[in-house]
Amino acid sequence: MSEPTNSMAGFGPASGSRCGFVAILGAPNVGKSTLLNTLVGTKVSIVSPKVQTTRSRVLGICIREAAQLVFIDTPGIFQPKRRLDRAMVAAAWGGAKDGDMVLLLVDAERGIDKNTAAILDNLANARAGTDDNAAVANKPMLLAINKIDAVPKNTLLELAAKLDARGLFDEIFMISALDGNGVADLEARLAAMAPLGPWMFPEDQISDMPGRLLAAEITREKIYLQLRQELPYAATVETETWENWQDGSIKIEQIIYVERPSQKAIVLGHKGERIKSIGATARAELEHLLETRIHLFLFVKVREKWGDDPERYRDWGLDFNA
Ligand code: GDP
Ligand code: MG
Repeated sequence: MSEPTNSMAGFGPASGSRCGFVAILGAPNVGKSTLLNTLVGTKVSIVSPKVQTTRSRVLGICIREAAQLVFIDTPGIFQPKRRLDRAMVAAAWGGAKDGDMVLLLVDAERGIDKNTAAILDNLANARAGTDDNAAVANKPMLLAINKIDAVPKNTLLELAAKLDARGLFDEIFMISALDGNGVADLEARLAAMAPLGPWMFPEDQISDMPGRLLAAEITREKIYLQLRQELPYAATVETETWENWQDGSIKIEQIIYVERPSQKAIVLGHKGERIKSIGATARAELEHLLETRIHLFLFVKVREKWGDDPERYRDWGLDFNA
């Protein structure tokens, strides 16, 4: 996986360079995105396209001295019920296989919840060679206990001891992705463990995610932030057009897909106030990130059962038949 196999390979220092693919595992909300943002130093997304050389999606890339660390996505692993959930889980383990190292994040506050327990069991099975995650078995596995800023020391030490007792992890780190505490140590260790080899990406490339996906992700985040209660993960966002204008500004048109007309009404809000507000905050963030003027146009469409639409899965790099 870290072998240079395409024309993109060969960036970085002439000698002694390292390039490591890190598969990030962790239950939803343990702080994966926050850690990525801290490591990469700018906003990156949970939704990014496949790298050319692999089926995994690159979340972000950071450089630590001679090492380039490429973080790959493993969408939240949990007990799969719906087809979409199963595809996510399959993609998650696929991502882990593509990594040189596996990094599990655990939330210090929540401890070993159901999702984390399921991941731990999967890792244990992989280590034991009793399932088809054998490719994960021989990789270095690191554990990072996150949100240490939010719990008392005793709780933390108890949790660390419990996790250590699983005998799965080569090393255990305690971090706060939010305030950065411990993150540099983790990064240094990952860099030291990365296999020798040329960098896979140019130095200035923090993510291979095209702007349109970044833009969609930002809008999705604003919807989520503004409609958390009313719209539990029923909306998806797609960037339909992306036009770079002569004056340097960018025109972006996006469609927000919801499952029911009632949800469309929620997204639009009274007299369109809600979508106006979503658009305004999304635009402000995009302008900040892209450092140019953005013309953002949002449309809301009802698409029933988008969760069962094969098209969507291809867009996400997920396997519909998982
Ligand atoms: P993900 O679902 O694993 O990507 O988790 P997110 O990165 O989206 O984080 C989920 C929530 O946990 C957010 O509200 C974060 O602000 C919060 N969070 C992440 N890292 C930390 C941390 O180190 N300390 C605290 N107190 N909160 C954190
Ligand atoms: Mg996330």
